This record gives sequence, structure tokens and C-alpha cells, in this order.
Amino acid sequence: MDDNGNSDNIQLDKVAVEHTEKPGKPTNFICPKCSNMLWEKDYEELPYFRCSLGHIYSPKSLLVEQMTALKIAFRHELRAFKEKQPWLSR
Ligand SMILES: [Zn+2]
Repeated sequence: MDDNGNSDNIQLDKVAVEHTEKPGKPTNFICPKCSNMLWEKDYEELPYFRCSLGHIYSPKSLLVEQMTALKIAFRHELRAFKEKQPWLSR
């Protein structure tokens, strides 16, 4: 991820896909791409998160992806609410 918050470094780890062992410590986070549980592990003393499908996030890229997913969910909920409450559109 660059300083602008772009998360183009998210990638699918083929090794993780082929491995069946636990990829680190379990966390309370879910993967924004596939909703599987994320595991935390360190690489050269820096933490990163990985799901069982192999999506990998730094702490910053995970935050950006979660905020993006939250914004999309909020827009969908707001649109659905407005459709049910036509007086809001007046
Ligand atoms: Zn995933």
C-alpha cells in the first residue's frame, strides 16, 4: 500500500492456499474480501494478517479495506432506507 491508502499490494498467497496448517495467531478480524477469519503473523518483526484463502494485509491496508467495506455497506443500507421512506427524497 502506498501513502495514499491504495491497497494494490493485496495478493493471493498460493503457498497459504496449499498449506493446511494454521498461518499464525487467530484474530477477531475477518477478511474484507472473503469473510474468512484472519490470522496474525510477523514477518521481519512487522505484523501482517492473512486469511485461509491467502489474502494478505498489513495493519494499514486491513484498516483501509475494512473502511471501504463499511462505506459500501452504509451506502447500501442508506439507499434501502430511503426507498422505504419516500418522504426523505422530497
Ligand atoms: Zn480472504
